[in-house]
Amino acid sequence: MPLDRIEIPESALRPKPDFPTLPDKSVVEEVRDWVKSGNPTYTWRGHTHTKPGEGAEVQYVADFQLPKGQEAPCPCCTPVTAKFNTGLIAWFPETHLVRLMGQHCFRRINPEGHQAAYKDLQDRIRREGSIRYLIGNLWKAKEASSALERAKPIARHLDDLQDILGPKLKRTLQIDLWRYMRDGALMVVSGGTDGKQFYTRYSTVTGTQLLDPARTSMAQKVETAQRLLENLDLPDDIEKADDDDRDRVARRFNRAMRVAGNAIAEINECRQFVTPLNVATIRQWGSRLDAPLQVYMRREGLVLHIGQTEDEPRSINLDGCLDLPTPRLPEIVIE
Ligand SMILES: [Zn+2]
Repeated sequence: MPLDRIEIPESALRPKPDFPTLPDKSVVEEVRDWVKSGNPTYTWRGHTHTKPGEGAEVQYVADFQLPKGQEAPCPCCTPVTAKFNTGLIAWFPETHLVRLMGQHCFRRINPEGHQAAYKDLQDRIRREGSIRYLIGNLWKAKEASSALERAKPIARHLDDLQDILGPKLKRTLQIDLWRYMRDGALMVVSGGTDGKQFYTRYSTVTGTQLLDPARTSMAQKVETAQRLLENLDLPDDIEKADDDDRDRVARRFNRAMRVAGNAIAEINECRQFVTPLNVATIRQWGSRLDAPLQVYMRREGLVLHIGQTEDEPRSINLDGCLDLPTPRLPEIVIE
């Protein structure tokens, strides 16, 4: 298929050695805005539409994308026919020129140079991302740490309740809550044939994760996150810091916030189990003749009464921290 020949204006071919140093962010934004508005690459004021010399040194400043379906001619290989949609802003340090060109085009002219420049660009993108991430979020570490400190007693208490409402209750009162509600459904017997019973769902119950015997300590997760946040070894100047140091801090902070986020989510989930409403649902279900487990549960303020029947239930004291809202973590923003 013959491609239309593009009429390149004389002004595009004239060398414009306007860039003695690596073009900065403002140039990148200018180019991106220019092409986004539908302007051809070869009419941008800084572009030189000539083929770079063999073995020319190059650095890639950033990539840019033309609007969908549009293609631009490449000064390296297809100067008068449309070729690329995603391009690179390439800077030539020896000649101070900038060319808007295809992504992989320069490879043929200077393979090693292309390789090195491409890697350099990736490194730069990563480095800038990491700097933005840390500057935008690292200051929230203190706030996160104090939220975790406030969440710790709730986590500890819920960890205790896992044991109290799990193994202890089973041992002392033969009530095995986990067995009958592990998937969050309260079932009742709806009938049976040949000695086989069929169950239907009576209601749902939330926060049964609290009882899960395989659940690991939430207090420990909170403490792990706190420890990670305490030992960040924050560089004095994030931008000037060594890449490895900065990456290490970013990874550690990221991990801390992930662990913290999971712990807070788990606390929120587990505490649902002992809300008055949830307890009432279990009581209604546990009093039915067709329920597979006979259980009585009532919450009165911070006391949870529990037994097989209403007569002489055991009392479990709930900690006042359960009435406090779960502390919230600061929001992490990733641009
Ligand atoms: Zn090209």
